[in-house]
Amino acid sequence: MRPYLIPAPRELEYTGGKTLLRDDCPVTVTDAPALPGEAYTLKIERGSVCITASSEPGRFYAKKTLEQIKTTCQGVCDDLVIRDAPVMSHRGFLIDCCRHFYGVEELKRLIDAAASFKLNRFHWHLTDDQGWRIEIKQYPLLTEVGSFRNNSRFGGVNEGKPHDGFFTQEQIREIVDYCAERQIEVIPEIEMPGHFTAAIASYPFLGCTGERMEPEQKEGIFPNVLCVGNEKAVAFVKDVLDEVCGLFPGRFVHIGGDEAPRIRWQCCEKCAAKMRELALDDYDALQGSFIKEIASYLRKMGKTAITWNESLKGDRLYPEDVIVQRWMDRKGLCRGFAEKGGKVIESDFYHYYFDYPYGMTPLKKAFAYDPFAGCGAGAVMGVECCLWTEFVRSFDDLCEKLFPRLLATAERGWSGYPTGRYVDFKTASAGMLPLIGEYGIEPLPPDRWDPALPARAKEVVVFFKGSLDPGLIRQAFNSRK
Ligand SMILES: [Zn+2]
Repeated sequence: MRPYLIPAPRELEYTGGKTLLRDDCPVTVTDAPALPGEAYTLKIERGSVCITASSEPGRFYAKKTLEQIKTTCQGVCDDLVIRDAPVMSHRGFLIDCCRHFYGVEELKRLIDAAASFKLNRFHWHLTDDQGWRIEIKQYPLLTEVGSFRNNSRFGGVNEGKPHDGFFTQEQIREIVDYCAERQIEVIPEIEMPGHFTAAIASYPFLGCTGERMEPEQKEGIFPNVLCVGNEKAVAFVKDVLDEVCGLFPGRFVHIGGDEAPRIRWQCCEKCAAKMRELALDDYDALQGSFIKEIASYLRKMGKTAITWNESLKGDRLYPEDVIVQRWMDRKGLCRGFAEKGGKVIESDFYHYYFDYPYGMTPLKKAFAYDPFAGCGAGAVMGVECCLWTEFVRSFDDLCEKLFPRLLATAERGWSGYPTGRYVDFKTASAGMLPLIGEYGIEPLPPDRWDPALPARAKEVVVFFKGSLDPGLIRQAFNSRK
């Protein structure tokens, strides 16, 4: 039999014979120092399996390919040679553990499944308005107060019960190690200056007004942002990042930078003084200069900051400061950043936000996405799918939303331009269901991956009702593909 493979390998050649692939089939592993780190070759011929790679990632990916071959060939495989390497260095998936909390055991299942498709970055969204989820030893109230909310009322649904949860530093290390064994680098996201309510609820001095508040209970963009004019508040952020950098050995730290309303800054003496001091004209520049300061602080610790595309608005950030993650960029600022030599991660809202229904983003649409269309192949460092959890109240729902659409992102990150046929990808995705199931993950059934137009319309309308504005519904539906 011929195997199904996701992502599709760069070169695949069938060489004639057949091999019985038993579990105890001998595997020879050879070093090939000339191959790039993530590249490998895999030969299955005359009953033997040979892997060639220069380093651990390449060997790991060869084994993952072999695993897919064993799963989808059911014992007998046509002899083959695969020569493979990824196009993109960043192949990521984001899980939001703030709006609804998902713990260590659930994350491990997702990490295992993501590793099966050669994703190599876990973007861990750890702080937001509705919950602070990472233990910080210098500021214990962040988790004592900020990880707890009395109720959840996302999308107008009253869950009627408290919600809490956070990761101890020991658990963080456990996840980091678990990922490292699977060639996945963890990128923590500590949101700033917006999406900061849970932090301010824990330490009111962090806000412009100093007033007491509680973590938010519903979705949205909230006015209580970090007071960037307050030296003590900025020092707090740096203290937090010191601990974060100690916990995450990877090269990147995501510092958010999206959806930060200006209303508190506009009424704040400290923020006004900061703007005078730096001779800044507007609040976009104030945010840009704050992000630049934090990125520079991280650089001194050997880290590169990633920020959502909104931080480009103030025109203060340069390619040497940050990597930009594009999710929605109506003004095309990412392209300008890319033209100056900036690096971009593509997480297009209309194609890679998998918390939205299949009616809005069917598997076919996710697969057809061209990640190079926006900023050009030279600027795109990678792709990343996002699973936000405002409306994802159970792990089963999370798994259905993410699988199989995550496979489309994995395919694109490895192969680059969308070239293969969708029908082949869809068949291969169905072939992967047993493999995904081994990790205790139940993907959405295949008959719902690409709903017909009337069903799409219904799903979208049901989803958005009462939760988001009609303009967004129209945009979702009118978008390309
Ligand atoms: Zn302020």
